[in-house]
Amino acid sequence: MDIGESIPAAEELQEQTRGSSHDEGHWEIIAAALSKSIGGDAFQRWFGAATWGGVENGKGTIYVPGEIHQVWIETNYMLELLFAASEAHEGLHKISIIVAETSAAGGIPSAAEPQVRKEMPGEMLDKRAIAAGLNPSYTFENFVVGGNSQFAHAACEAVAAKRSVGYNPLFIHGGSGLGKTHLMHAIGREILRRRPDCRVIYLTCEKFTNEFIEAIRKGELEKFRRRYRSSDVLLIDDVQFLAGKERSQEEFFHTFNTLLDGRNQVVITSDRPACEIKSIEPRLISRFECGLAVELQPPQIETRIAILHKKIAEWKVSIDENVLLFLAEKIRSNVRRLEGALVRVATYASLAGESVSVQKVEHLLRDFIQEEASRQVTIDGIQRAVAETFDMRLADMISRRRPASIAFPRQIAMYLSRGLTHNSLVEIGESFGGRDHGTVIHACKKVVSELEKQPGLRERIERIEQQLRR
Ligand code: ADP
Ligand code: MG
Repeated sequence: MDIGESIPAAEELQEQTRGSSHDEGHWEIIAAALSKSIGGDAFQRWFGAATWGGVENGKGTIYVPGEIHQVWIETNYMLELLFAASEAHEGLHKISIIVAETSAAGGIPSAAEPQVRKEMPGEMLDKRAIAAGLNPSYTFENFVVGGNSQFAHAACEAVAAKRSVGYNPLFIHGGSGLGKTHLMHAIGREILRRRPDCRVIYLTCEKFTNEFIEAIRKGELEKFRRRYRSSDVLLIDDVQFLAGKERSQEEFFHTFNTLLDGRNQVVITSDRPACEIKSIEPRLISRFECGLAVELQPPQIETRIAILHKKIAEWKVSIDENVLLFLAEKIRSNVRRLEGALVRVATYASLAGESVSVQKVEHLLRDFIQEEASRQVTIDGIQRAVAETFDMRLADMISRRRPASIAFPRQIAMYLSRGLTHNSLVEIGESFGGRDHGTVIHACKKVVSELEKQPGLRERIERIEQQLRR
């Protein structure tokens, strides 16, 4: 990503874009091809406000209005974009997506950033944050951004800076201990810092439900409603808790609509995507889906190491680098557990008054490590489970045989390997009889498109997933 590149000044940019009608012609061709390959709606949403910066030495440049566009395009549409652009420009082999300044990108409403009046001083901010239900140590500065969280983080920052009127509600989902609550608190805090008079309320969905029941019991429903429906920003954590609670869902639905109608921001977290929350009303699900959904994935090893460094710096303890590496390698799927392991090691080190060795840590954390190992899903495990479900030979996972009865389950196994393991596309391809990464991408696309078409396929794949996670 070329984030580091300098952002052109407004005049420069205008000059560049005005500069050649030739380039505009090219953009029209690229846009037409792109719109066809990714669909008109997606094109409008992500490229509608983009500006083509031309091509130099085989490298094309596109200016987009925000970091969120940059990350989203890089993650989802880079291949299609490169393909379309290289058709229009011979020799083009690379494209940089650069965030332009609002006024320069042309066509982005600069509604966004309201004037920051007076920022709150630190101590007062902590007090206000606590009063709003926020943990003062969950800030954007304390959050380590990695490939697993880049998009979610950018969306949260955009909401906090009010750069993104469209992301309402913002729906953050992902497994336990991956930083959903942390990011949500960071949004609340940042909003309070920028706009001290804003009414921010954070609460867990469980608390919402309990207070609601209590309000009915005490006959104070009006007061309850006034409180939540008059907030400027409502942060509701762990919304999957609403499953099966019909009256609370009903109440939440109305609170939600009132806030959205009044253009107040709502942020929601959940341990799974909205469509997978069972026993929840469809109208509520579709409300959740009308804004922007972002996912937190388990962090890669580099990010896990960076998180450990951040934590020890915060706690002002020193731990041997080899020990940190050991922790990051052993505990992969949950940052809360990673943090828990680090606390145990740091506590031991400070009590024992000595630096701890890897061997000692291995002993100290044997329960963590055992549990972690039992949670790990491997490509091998996936191949076995899929072969069993589809009644085929394990050997056919790596064979060159191509009848659909074999090829499609093999593609499902590749798709699951992509989603459930930390292996790269290349590694996955290799585990399936030395296929290349393009084959794995093709397999994933194929499964996604079949999920739409084949009734019952989703349930079948979900059952395999559940079996693997057990
Ligand atoms: P979730 O709500 O997804 O279950 P939390 O937000 O409670 O997870 O995160 C669990 C712990 O891990 C918190 O202490 C949080 O500060 C920490 N954490 C998670 N992700 C990160 C990160 N990227 N950088 C720093 N700390 C993190
Ligand atoms: Mg949480």
